Amino acid sequence: MKSIALIGSTGSIGTQTCSVVRRHPDKFRIAALVAGGGNAELFLKQAEEFRPEYAALADERAGEQIKDRMPAGVKFACGEKAAEEAVGFGDTALIAAGGFAGLKYSLAAIRAGRDVALANKETLVCGGELVMREVRGAGVRLLPVDSEHSAIWQALSFRPDTPFKRLIITASGGPFYAYTPDRLARVTPADALRHPTWKMGAKITIDSATLLNKGFEVIEAGWLYDAPLEKIHTIVQPESIIHSMVEFADGAVLAQMSCPSMELPIQLALTYPDRLDCGVKPLDFQALGTLHFLPLERRRFPCYDLALTAAEKGKNYPCALNGAGEVAVHAFLQGRIGFTTIAEIIAAALSETEEMPADSYEALSETDARARQAAERHIARLSRSV
Ligand code: NDP
Repeated sequence: MKSIALIGSTGSIGTQTCSVVRRHPDKFRIAALVAGGGNAELFLKQAEEFRPEYAALADERAGEQIKDRMPAGVKFACGEKAAEEAVGFGDTALIAAGGFAGLKYSLAAIRAGRDVALANKETLVCGGELVMREVRGAGVRLLPVDSEHSAIWQALSFRPDTPFKRLIITASGGPFYAYTPDRLARVTPADALRHPTWKMGAKITIDSATLLNKGFEVIEAGWLYDAPLEKIHTIVQPESIIHSMVEFADGAVLAQMSCPSMELPIQLALTYPDRLDCGVKPLDFQALGTLHFLPLERRRFPCYDLALTAAEKGKNYPCALNGAGEVAVHAFLQGRIGFTTIAEIIAAALSETEEMPADSYEALSETDARARQAAERHIARLSRSV
């Protein structure tokens, strides 16, 4: 029986993790639940259903409003510190909180000696150097949940140190792959929130549309599989059937395929090397007929290009990229800036970023805060000039 501290339980990955646990109650138990506070009613329902030992909301005000309705036997607390304590319950912490906030949970789990099933991309994008050092020091396992990194892990027979020639990360291309710059400039939040093959939280859906997400995945793969950038390739696979591939020295390429489902990589992170039913529709190759492959060119996708540039620079640049990106995407969703302005804001914030070490949480927090301030300043400047 695997016991899980589920961080970010009310989101897209969090609720799909709950489905995985429901499907195999003899294999999994939720020991702790944490969410932000934006959906307190769902959080309460989850606490009633799974009866964890511990439940916490990061937002104190939201926590105060539901604290008297928690089921008996569930210890409840609220606030950021109380939420972090949840990672000590259970043997594996599944980190599915969104954004930079995920990094502190990942670090807390590693420091508490827990295995980390990692959905939160920002943990490695922002803190790759620090996190990998702490993972090695603590002797815990970092298990990929993101579908592309899980596909690579599967192709490497679950041994991240298996030698390979190339990692080939696939992308759906997002909803606007074929759009002209003019058409892109008119994209609305509602358009961008309609992803062709995946149903995800708002931030990652917009990042998939700008292709910033693919840049994040290249950075994550570099840390997880100790791969220099020149060994990581990307290709658009519009049907989202191949979730990524690994090429080996002899020219063999292993691909992991399935109908798009996050429940598969979530479950596998918790059961590997064993595989259990996870409700995924079987692949019907005849109905599928053909798989397509298209190039993913840096010059056509400015956010992807910015991510790779930040990765090439290293140090704190990927953390600044993320901080500015979080602010820019938020502003786009609020209707304060246009779709193509997201890249402009990130580029402006990155151009002001001063190189700093990325080897402590404090240093990363400072970079994150500065990048957010710079992005806000550029958004305000643009609003004034409209
Ligand atoms: P969602 O926006 O759907 O969910 C985010 C979750 O985090 C919610 O439960 C939210 O709670 C919670 N949360 C927000 N702030 C905090 C906080 N300070 N402390 C604790 N919990 C918090 O995002 P997704 O599920 O889509 O994505 C989560 C992470 O997984 C992201 O990093 C994303 O990049 C990554 N990922 C997602 C994939 C997907 O298919 N969705 C695929 C691969 C990776 P509430 O809303 O109740 O406040």
